[in-house]
Amino acid sequence: MTDHAVVIAGGGPTGLMLAGELALAGIDVVIVERRTSPDVDGSRSGGLHSRTIEVLDQRGIAERFLAAGQVAQVGLDISDFPTRHNYGLALWQSQFEPILADWVGELGVPILRGREVVGFAQGDSGVDVQLSGDTSLRAEYLVGCDGGRSLIRKAAGIDFPGLDPSTSWMIAEVEMDEEPEVGIRREGGGIGPVNREEGGGPFRVVLKEPQVEDSEPTFQDLSEALIVAYGTDYGLRSASWISRFTDMTRQAAAYRQGRVLLAGDAAHVHPPQGGQGLNTGVQDAVNLGWKLAQVVNKTSPESLLDTYHAERHPVGARVLRYTMAQVALSYPDDRHQALRDTMTELLTMDEPRRRTAAMLSCLDIHYDLGDGHPLLGRRMPDLDLHTADGPTRVFTLLHDARPVLLNLGEPGGFDISPWANGVRFVDATHDGVWELPLLGEVAAPPAVLIRPDGHVAWVGDLTDRKLPRALTTWFGAATPAH
Ligand SMILES: Cc1cc2nc3c(=O)[nH]c(=O)nc-3n(C[C@H](O)[C@H](O)[C@H](O)COP(=O)(O)OP(=O)(O)OC[C@H]3O[C@@H](n4cnc5c(N)ncnc54)[C@H](O)[C@@H]3O)c2cc1C
Repeated sequence: MTDHAVVIAGGGPTGLMLAGELALAGIDVVIVERRTSPDVDGSRSGGLHSRTIEVLDQRGIAERFLAAGQVAQVGLDISDFPTRHNYGLALWQSQFEPILADWVGELGVPILRGREVVGFAQGDSGVDVQLSGDTSLRAEYLVGCDGGRSLIRKAAGIDFPGLDPSTSWMIAEVEMDEEPEVGIRREGGGIGPVNREEGGGPFRVVLKEPQVEDSEPTFQDLSEALIVAYGTDYGLRSASWISRFTDMTRQAAAYRQGRVLLAGDAAHVHPPQGGQGLNTGVQDAVNLGWKLAQVVNKTSPESLLDTYHAERHPVGARVLRYTMAQVALSYPDDRHQALRDTMTELLTMDEPRRRTAAMLSCLDIHYDLGDGHPLLGRRMPDLDLHTADGPTRVFTLLHDARPVLLNLGEPGGFDISPWANGVRFVDATHDGVWELPLLGEVAAPPAVLIRPDGHVAWVGDLTDRKLPRALTTWFGAATPAH
């Protein structure tokens, strides 16, 4: 039996991101992935929202993704939002995953491909993780990033309450002899090009089905469904991917059970409307990674892991609520059309547009860390800074996923040495306003404590007695200064 500090079941977007976060913190982590190669079956997710691009920027890897995709205003315009990435990125999941896997590879994380987690047993000191091929791994923690049908969630007996599917859609990537009718159809789905840049090439077909289906669809099923919907299958020649998704909407009742945690689709499933799934999973991973690393490194107590559920469960619940509303809005009858028109009108107004766009782009996420300055619990903006070492920006300071105590007042003035192993103390100045999405301009704080996930854990003056407490709460007990 091989020992690792953390075993991640599933090397999709969530598992890969989590592995990268743990590796940056020096944790011995391994991914077990059923697929034999990094190739993704079908193109799946269509892109990244602003906050996901920001978290990748916090690790210094956003450029890799930006170079591979197309920046665009997706749905609602966020070009007036105060972020460097005031746009979405059109990038298929089939392109996203290999880039992320390369980064994880550079960080030296082993991926056991073509292997499955088939069960586990957890005790007080660790988890025995059983793999296909009659082998096993021993870990301190097991994280289920194994998708919507998560074996880890089921084997842990974690409830998965929510809604059964009311509708299913067939989805496929196909070659056709004839030019199809391209565009979204009122009754749901539509046909569009897969390759956005060059035009031509394969088409992506999404077809709403007359009743809920859950088996794997065949080429014949697709041809017949096209004929029902369009009167022809446009000379359907081949399909590189045929699949099905539903509007099933469920969320794990607990994101943690002892030494077992859930993240990404394993913790929440919902239909793809709004393009939130991959984004939420990647951001779950960035919330969990540093916390799990600190618990494994014994700088923080296990209770830090409970803040993962406390912070991310409400975010997941909000995503589910939004996608349920999207499904309800998509019904083709006249009454729903009237509702759609009303919503469209509302979203042309500035305030509803900004609120909805801030939620979809995840730029408004506010973890409840108590009352205080508006920055508390929100994402730290990527300010331009001047430091003794020259100009930099906030996200650059977060590249190694370590917390930062950023002092914008008189230099020095705080003894960081008891926390110096974990926390970086930076004296800097910023010329300019502090602006947050939705809230607008906020008072410039004298100092902020930034967590590795980019959220602000404390705001105040360095003489504030709450600062040592915040450092200890989030980043471990102080070691006596010499
Ligand atoms: C048609 C469609 C369109 C979508 N569009 C968008 C979009 O535009 N934007 C967006 O954000 N999201 C979108 N999504 C959702 C997105 O694809 C998922 O939310 C995302 O893939 C979740 O990532 P994950 O890593 O949590 O899970 P998954 O991607 O499901 O990865 C789980 C991994 O675990 C592996 N695995 C499973 N069980 C085991 C096991 N027992 N042992 C080992 N390995 C295992 C699987 O092989 C897989 O690689 C879309 C989904 C679909 C179907």
